[in-house]
Amino acid sequence: MDLLLKGGWVVTAERVEQADVAIKGEKIAAVGADLTAEGAVVRDVTGKYIMPGAIDAHVHYQMPIGELMTADDWFTGTRLAACGGVTTVIDYAEPASPAESLTASLNKRLDEAREQACVDYGLHQVVLPGQEEDEAELKAVVDKGVTSFKVFTTYAQRLSLAAIGRLLKIARRLGALVTVHCEDHEIVTAKREELIAAGRTDPAYHALSRPATAEVKAIQDVIALAGEAGAPVYIVHVSTMGGAEAIAAARSKGQQVYGETCPHYLLLTGDKYAGPDSRLYLMCPPLRTAADNESLWRHLAAGALQVVATDHCSYSREQKAAGTAFYNTPSGVPGTETLLPLLYSFGVRNGWLTLPQLVRVLSTNPARLFGLYPRKGSLRPGSDADVVIFDPRRQITLTAANLHSAAGYTVFEGFNLLGYPEATYLRGRLIYDHGRFLGQAGQGRFIPGRV
Ligand SMILES: [Zn+2]
Repeated sequence: MDLLLKGGWVVTAERVEQADVAIKGEKIAAVGADLTAEGAVVRDVTGKYIMPGAIDAHVHYQMPIGELMTADDWFTGTRLAACGGVTTVIDYAEPASPAESLTASLNKRLDEAREQACVDYGLHQVVLPGQEEDEAELKAVVDKGVTSFKVFTTYAQRLSLAAIGRLLKIARRLGALVTVHCEDHEIVTAKREELIAAGRTDPAYHALSRPATAEVKAIQDVIALAGEAGAPVYIVHVSTMGGAEAIAAARSKGQQVYGETCPHYLLLTGDKYAGPDSRLYLMCPPLRTAADNESLWRHLAAGALQVVATDHCSYSREQKAAGTAFYNTPSGVPGTETLLPLLYSFGVRNGWLTLPQLVRVLSTNPARLFGLYPRKGSLRPGSDADVVIFDPRRQITLTAANLHSAAGYTVFEGFNLLGYPEATYLRGRLIYDHGRFLGQAGQGRFIPGRV
């Protein structure tokens, strides 16, 4: 045994118990009452929670869009993850065009991450139009440990509903999970043209340009396709009450539909677009209403939504300021570092989630859905020793100065939190402690998913 975490409260997907955690090498060795040190380094964690490291299952680090590059790259993105108690992130491999093969884009992405990542990582494979027909390529990706595909119903990358149906059927055969960005392209396009024709192009019109009906319709369409294909499906970044209700309804009929939401959809509203900093809050889908916030919490608490991830896609104030209209302002916000503390303060402390539910939505559920369990998302003996020591009494006011994103701002500026990560261990190594990052570029590893 190398390290003994003594006197804390162990929180897992199932329970909270007072227990010690013993770590040997990169693995959890034992969890139990009054373990003896046997020469190990002992860390007194009395009064703290010991939780499996969080998994941010939806991030975009070092992502080019045209000429523009996100502010956070693989290094700063995974460094800020460590500082927020996130020990695994799942990013995306995306072909530059349908002419680039899936495996080529995947290999390129793995090469970019290898020397830079400070926490462990997995990838989702973006599938572009036409690529959904190539079963051999799709299988090659799964064999390399990428067990989830990502498709869009809007943007240039969009697949037709027929193409999504084809992909769902192949994915079912391969045991892979199709994840979908759901906004109906026709509704979004019509709304955008209407606003442009009326001269309403300011970023303040962002939420109007991508209405809730667009998300709800696309989610309903995709659920119907998945039902027809007999395949599971995962809806990313659900932002609306209607979307959550559609998922809940399908699940209650026994369909395998999974839903993810993000802290900004739980905690912020479209009122932000009326302020002077509207660009800083611009992401797709947009922020909605307080009624949507509450409905998303309710569905998360009820288990109709299974994952909270961040869609971390950061741009600096300068990059954001270059936008002159809702349609040309860089879309995305930073989020990985504040995922766990926000969900604790506003989920657990406000009574929406129990501590085991917190671990489920931030760690165990994404690990299971993306083929990483029980290596990740668990504190059982044999699991990777990815551990967060969480101090439920630490008070902090979120502000850019105490966060680590190269974006230089947070959409949660001024939020008062009670409870914050104190330390983060990645496979037994201390990578964050009391506000200090102690990790290194290149120590994060690709964790292949298994179907
Ligand atoms: Zn995204």
